[in-house]
Amino acid sequence: MDFAAQASWLEIDAHALRHNIGLFRAVLGAGVRLGGVLKGNAYGHGLLQALPTVHEWCDSLYVIDPLDGLAVRAYEKERSAPQRQVLVLGAAGADEAVALARAGVDLVLTDKGQERFVAALRSAGARKLRAHVHLDTGLGREGFTSGDLPGAVAWLAAAQDVIQVVGVLSHFANTEDVTEQKYAMQQLDAFDKGVLRLQEALSLTSPVERHIAASAATLLLPRARLDAVRIGISLYGLWASNETRLSAHAVLGEVPDLRPALSWRCRSQLTKWLPAGSCVGYGCTYRCPVDTRIAVLPVGYFDGYPRLLSGKAYALVDGQRCPVLGRVMMNHVVLDVTRAARDEIPITATLLGRDGSEQLTADQLASWAQTINYEIVTRLGAHLRRVVV
Ligand SMILES: *Cc1c(COP(=O)(O)O)cnc(C)c1O
Repeated sequence: MDFAAQASWLEIDAHALRHNIGLFRAVLGAGVRLGGVLKGNAYGHGLLQALPTVHEWCDSLYVIDPLDGLAVRAYEKERSAPQRQVLVLGAAGADEAVALARAGVDLVLTDKGQERFVAALRSAGARKLRAHVHLDTGLGREGFTSGDLPGAVAWLAAAQDVIQVVGVLSHFANTEDVTEQKYAMQQLDAFDKGVLRLQEALSLTSPVERHIAASAATLLLPRARLDAVRIGISLYGLWASNETRLSAHAVLGEVPDLRPALSWRCRSQLTKWLPAGSCVGYGCTYRCPVDTRIAVLPVGYFDGYPRLLSGKAYALVDGQRCPVLGRVMMNHVVLDVTRAARDEIPITATLLGRDGSEQLTADQLASWAQTINYEIVTRLGAHLRRVVV
């Protein structure tokens, strides 16, 4: 018996992922490593569902959680797949740093507090930890500020028996929200200077991998591509912002054909007719002006369908737009399917994705819910069934 039939599910289009990766390959040409960002459960697409495609076609994989870095190594071992460069971008403890060193997973170093890794690495006697030093060039988040250098990395200079610095990175603050990239250019200048200062402070002789660009900067700032890029949102076929899409046309001469890789579908729990005058949902915010055929969907804000979509959004049924009636509830959404659904029961609603000639994008949901597409996709419940198609 298929118990899961009563829940909504996500479809991950592996061909769309592959297409988007190919598109970045074409933009980058040879010589720049293409990194795929798998944080946030692969932007909601599912780490395990996105991994086979991203692993096969990208040069490096970026995760936030050390456990995800180790999961990639386990995946490779299971399949006897080649080891990709895997880099943990997020916070780690000393024990995790040791585990990453053992697994040959790279870790980003961001602050003096990580000096405590050194003793742990020495007493573990593991392989050297491969580290990328994060320079804060203006985001005001993690990383060493230029004022901190070289003093802040003196401990690193003294730890080269257990830590090998193989990379240096930074992250842009303001590439998505603007169409002129003055601030990014300042960050790039600061990065170039910081790299030199770091190389001096650590007396590095071999070249380090330099990376700073995420999706938007990779498309818009050729100078920012450096040795590697870290592509997140656009790997999944979404634009970092509207400004980015508009600017891409000017920089690249065309708008790259990014293909969204995610669809979210749900079968109705029931359909029924409500007589004119009936209320729908908590707070009775909707009252049917005429006899209305509704579909009750077993999906709600628990699953990541934002409550702010109440009374604003529509879903697609048979390629037709069906309004969300009243409030989005924890486990239920009610659609008006009067015109869409003939007699078929249950109906299948597309909450996100394509149905017939209509397409409902993460950007559209984000604009109704007063947020960004990143939040829409990454908040899709980890419990939802994800199928690769
Ligand atoms: C999230 C993230 C990225 C990817 O950003 P996108 O805009 O999704 O491409 C790259 N680098 C760092 C450090 C990040 O945190």
